Amino acid sequence: MSTRQVIAVDVGGTKLAAGLVDGDGAVVRHAVEPTDRTGEEAVLAQLERVIGGLADGGFSALGVGIPSTIDQRSGRAVTSVNIPFADVDLRDRLQERFGVPVMIENDGNAAAVAEHRLGAARGARHVVMLTLGTGVGGGLILDDRLYRGAVGAAGELGHITLDLDGPPCQGACPGRGHLEAMASGLAAERLAARAVAERPEGDLGRAAAAGRRVDPRLLVELAAAGPGDARDVLDHVGFHLGVGISGLVNVFNPELVVVGGGFAKAGELLLAPARRVVSERTLVPARDTVTIVEAELGPEAGLVGAALVALDALEGG
Ligand SMILES: [Zn+2]
Repeated sequence: MSTRQVIAVDVGGTKLAAGLVDGDGAVVRHAVEPTDRTGEEAVLAQLERVIGGLADGGFSALGVGIPSTIDQRSGRAVTSVNIPFADVDLRDRLQERFGVPVMIENDGNAAAVAEHRLGAARGARHVVMLTLGTGVGGGLILDDRLYRGAVGAAGELGHITLDLDGPPCQGACPGRGHLEAMASGLAAERLAARAVAERPEGDLGRAAAAGRRVDPRLLVELAAAGPGDARDVLDHVGFHLGVGISGLVNVFNPELVVVGGGFAKAGELLLAPARRVVSERTLVPARDTVTIVEAELGPEAGLVGAALVALDALEGG
């Protein structure tokens, strides 16, 4: 049994991915299934079953990335937006079940670790990571290390306020007008639905009438084809993303802002308007020393990050 193998799990709102990962971060075996969101116990049972299925390869630690705020003192997942997880005693429960050290990490933090170590932010010491999906996740690499804050809940970069009276934030978040409510895939869908209702003759309206699902994928497809409502929606979302990034650049002076997550597939359709706002609204010299790039690791970032966190725990003893 290899002592350097770990099992990593990325619990997403739609899918649960797990892997047996060797000491170099390479995924040896892989398992993916739709997340069972029928309840807390269902998610936990699924998590234990999937880990159990990989465990016969032998493993020395477990890393779990979850879309939740974490309290590292108690090892609890405190609140979650996209899975039915509230105040779950995750670390101790898994530790008891599998008898190995368990690290739990917010999924945005895990993605930041992965991009920093193996992806777009290799070699950078100060990095702001944003993951655009159903929500907006985040992670901070400050002085070459993941910044976890006082108890492990830092890096919720999607929950900074852009609009005092803006739309209510998602899930358990009590805020309004947060970056997540203005620049996530769901926010884009809401804007797109409004365009469909207001301008049925527009590109989005015609696609909807033809039976297409109005989602980020359709937005990207139509916006790439030329100007129209889809392009306007992505411009609008990119503008808000840029306002959020501008504030983060003023606060943290990162050399790199990495934008990942499924919705980041929109690429320059989002990043170009975001860069424009950052160049107009950010203080110098931070404005002139930051680069905004797309993530490199794609949907694997959360899994890889969870593995790296578990491997670090082994190194640290
Ligand atoms: Zn929020």
